[in-house]
Amino acid sequence: MATIGFIGLGNMGAPMAANLVKAGHHVTGFDIVAGRAKALAVQGGQAAATASEAAAAGEIVITMLPAGPDVRSVYLGNGGVLGQASEDALLVDCSTIDVETARAVAAAASNAGFDMLDAPVSGGVGGAETASLTFMVGGKAEAFERARPLLAAMGRTIVHAGPAGNGQAAKICNNMILGVSMIAVCEAFALAERLGLEAQTLFDISAKSSGQCWALTSYCPVPGPVPASPANRDYGPGFTAAMMLKDLRLAQQAAGANATATPLGAAAANLYQLFVDEGTGGLDFSGIYRFIRKA
Ligand code: NAD
Repeated sequence: MATIGFIGLGNMGAPMAANLVKAGHHVTGFDIVAGRAKALAVQGGQAAATASEAAAAGEIVITMLPAGPDVRSVYLGNGGVLGQASEDALLVDCSTIDVETARAVAAAASNAGFDMLDAPVSGGVGGAETASLTFMVGGKAEAFERARPLLAAMGRTIVHAGPAGNGQAAKICNNMILGVSMIAVCEAFALAERLGLEAQTLFDISAKSSGQCWALTSYCPVPGPVPASPANRDYGPGFTAAMMLKDLRLAQQAAGANATATPLGAAAANLYQLFVDEGTGGLDFSGIYRFIRKA
């Protein structure tokens, strides 16, 4: 069993750390919000009083933080992970952040003598709770193999996507497909309604035709055709519109930095921005159907 330092015990990090404890690992957790580390201790982990203490406690250090600047400060700042982790510790950042920051922090880790992986996830809080997350992992193959058993205690699908930063690249490219395809499905249902075509009829046809996609058949944004989709519970998340907007913005940042034309990705980011500006960032991202339908 491994000793693990876990920094960032929020909506995702808390259940992920709890699953590592359940799998028999020794987990020392820290969060800047008082009480979150103690909640981990109640579940059988250890509470650290500082990030340095958590970083020094593990042969593996895992972080699950909000955004790129948090990752930079936790790894590179005073008392940060790179200065505190034990020799030969493997560093694994599971946060969703920009590719550039992921590569810069991995390079700094490498200069300090550490292997580092970027390992963002999909599957949301439900996936974190049921240990069924998908991990998209960037970094050296040997480091990936070392991390794999731990990631398997928190997730079901674990994919090595290539060198440092490629986990983040995979995550934002996948979510750009999802954001664009969700909007396309919403537009089709809004048009069908105006044309007098029943939503269920369009679903039955498109689910078996060339318009078939995950946003339609697994996560239909219109109530009815897919009983488990958030549309049937007033668009309670799920995966929030605010999170989708964050990922679409990261994709736009990467497209800009790498001179790649992504006009539909840009349009999707703009539409999600308008939707979230209405105060609906906490709704499931498929709730953008309401916004498109009334436009
Ligand atoms: P969250 O805000 O609930 O959790 C982040 C935690 O990090 C908070 O508890 C915060 O207090 C802590 N934190 C911030 N700065 C810190 C620091 N310097 N030291 C220690 N702790 C610090 O966010 P979340 O929903 O758990 O998401 C975490 C990451 O996972 C994000 O990058 C997000 O984009 C990604 N993600 C979230 C979901 C989701 O559905 N929530 C799905 C996939 C990916």
